[in-house]
Amino acid sequence: MYTNQFSYHRVNTVQEAISLLQKNPDARLLAGGHSLIPAMKLRLSDPSALVDISRVAELKGIRQRGNTLVIGAMTTHSEIEDSALLKQLCPLLPEVAHIIGDPAVRNRGTLGGSLAHADPAADYPASMLALGASMKIVGSNGDRVVDADNFFTGMFATAIGSGEILTEIHVPVKTAGVGMAYETMMHPASRYAIVGVAAMVRMSGGVCQEARVGMTGAGHHAMRLSGLEAAVTGKPLDAATLSAACKSLVRPADLLGDHFASADYRAHLVDVYAQRALAAAAGKA
Ligand SMILES: Cc1cc2nc3c(=O)[nH]c(=O)nc-3n(C[C@H](O)[C@H](O)[C@H](O)COP(=O)(O)OP(=O)(O)OC[C@H]3O[C@@H](n4cnc5c(N)ncnc54)[C@H](O)[C@@H]3O)c2cc1C
Repeated sequence: MYTNQFSYHRVNTVQEAISLLQKNPDARLLAGGHSLIPAMKLRLSDPSALVDISRVAELKGIRQRGNTLVIGAMTTHSEIEDSALLKQLCPLLPEVAHIIGDPAVRNRGTLGGSLAHADPAADYPASMLALGASMKIVGSNGDRVVDADNFFTGMFATAIGSGEILTEIHVPVKTAGVGMAYETMMHPASRYAIVGVAAMVRMSGGVCQEARVGMTGAGHHAMRLSGLEAAVTGKPLDAATLSAACKSLVRPADLLGDHFASADYRAHLVDVYAQRALAAAAGKA
């Protein structure tokens, strides 16, 4: 199916994009186009104008600023997968990028596009929650930074307001004793998460000092498993602790169910994949 007609605007700066969004409240930003264009073809989205931000240099690149990694919103999944800086200072993100879609998707799709789109089955959101990342959002009234806990507000919904652009993703640099991992049951065709769990743990003397666990795929949007984090903090992350802690973590009534996996099955998968993610993270700490 073809899209409806739309006007196309290519911009070179964030400010140009913001003023075009203000002039056309119905316009949408075009990043890699791997979620937006299919949605337009299916008439799930029908903007009258597209603002192409793929050539905005200030939205690209991965750099270290003190204890923070700053990733431009237009950074592609492939660039994240291949980044030597991320492999050293935040290995979770290259690990996640590696399993997204296929090479065509990874070469065009962007971190910012994935987070702004907030597909409930997308892989990055769980990692953003586990890492304690934050998002820089710019609009005509200036900029603000929203932490991942407050960024994903619903199914395909985020804290990005009308006329605003997600410009940067801020991720803390990995410190000593920290391990991180992502475990997912993938949809066999798209590789989107049926259930995905990301875990970050800080270990000292064999005991978990801090845990952050993010879940995607199962619910209406990515969310933290705060009860589990509290249950494992102060304990060794051995098989007995994890098996006891990863039981009935989420209620099926709060989850999605479809012909790939019922809500009951997804609830079971959350327990299994949370256990695997925490064990893998502890093994890497
Ligand atoms: C076949 C296929 C398989 C896939 N498999 C997976 C998978 O396994 N796991 C996974 O997580 N994802 C998967 N995806 C999705 C893929 O990761 C997309 O790249 C991603 O969801 C959207 O990124 P994009 O750059 O293409 O954004 P676009 O499609 O260009 O934009 C998506 C939405 O975000 C908005 N937007 C984009 N950038 C910004 C910004 N900087 N600020 C504010 N709003 C913005 C757009 O206006 C639009 O509404 C798959 C996609 C396809 C087509």
